[in-house]
Amino acid sequence: MSAAPPRIDAHIHGFPDRLAAAVRGRLQRDGQLTAGYLLADVATAIKTQGFDGAWLLPYAHRAGVAESVNEWCAAEAARYPWLTAGATFHPDDPDLGRLVRRALTGLRLAVVKLHCSVGGFSPDDARLAPLWELAQERGVPVVMHAGQRGPGETAPDELEPLVPVLRAYPRLPLILAHTGYPSHARALELMAAHANLYGDLTPVWDRHVPITAAEFQRFPGRLLFGSDAPNNPTPAATQATRLERLGLDTAMLAEILGGTAARLVARN
Ligand SMILES: [Zn+2]
Repeated sequence: MSAAPPRIDAHIHGFPDRLAAAVRGRLQRDGQLTAGYLLADVATAIKTQGFDGAWLLPYAHRAGVAESVNEWCAAEAARYPWLTAGATFHPDDPDLGRLVRRALTGLRLAVVKLHCSVGGFSPDDARLAPLWELAQERGVPVVMHAGQRGPGETAPDELEPLVPVLRAYPRLPLILAHTGYPSHARALELMAAHANLYGDLTPVWDRHVPITAAEFQRFPGRLLFGSDAPNNPTPAATQATRLERLGLDTAMLAEILGGTAARLVARN
């Protein structure tokens, strides 16, 4: 019998200190966020929350941020070998192709995060083509928060720009953050139609993605646990317990809680 897969939180955030403080300041509501937000705290919390590893996902709100954040992510996360350091990009960045090559080939960052509402762009922005091409070639998963208008939620029509990307890059592993919550029903339809679309189960603040046990069974190896630490009021361990109580079979649960994430980054 093979060993159980590692437990991996596939959606946590880390930024250089000043940027981390700015992000936290925007998200803080009535003191509900209590976890430390500096990288050392975030990295340590992974272990205390019962996980073996995590994907550290930065994001860029405008041009001129991604390059230094990616360098920071590669250098700092190397101190914490259980973290999989991520890259981010913004379509306004001039010479995006160079930034993509540096991050994915030079720094070997193993996952990418794009945040459409924070960055104010559409998933099908044509300027992102250099990213899609190299991510597909190297098998690097791209986590995308597709909603553009609201701060955390995604409307059904905001999922449609994913379709041309999924069609044009059929071997690109594209992970839809929050499984498009509250448009998760449409997101699951898109997952059924496109084998390269995945969903993460990261809650939007205190609202979890209400996928049923039967729906989980339809998408083995396609749904990933994510906590949004340190930007979520519910600790990762508590979020994981909720999933563990859904009555999923052991193998399915192990896939969600880390097996799928481990496999996606093992390719590159
Ligand atoms: Zn997030």
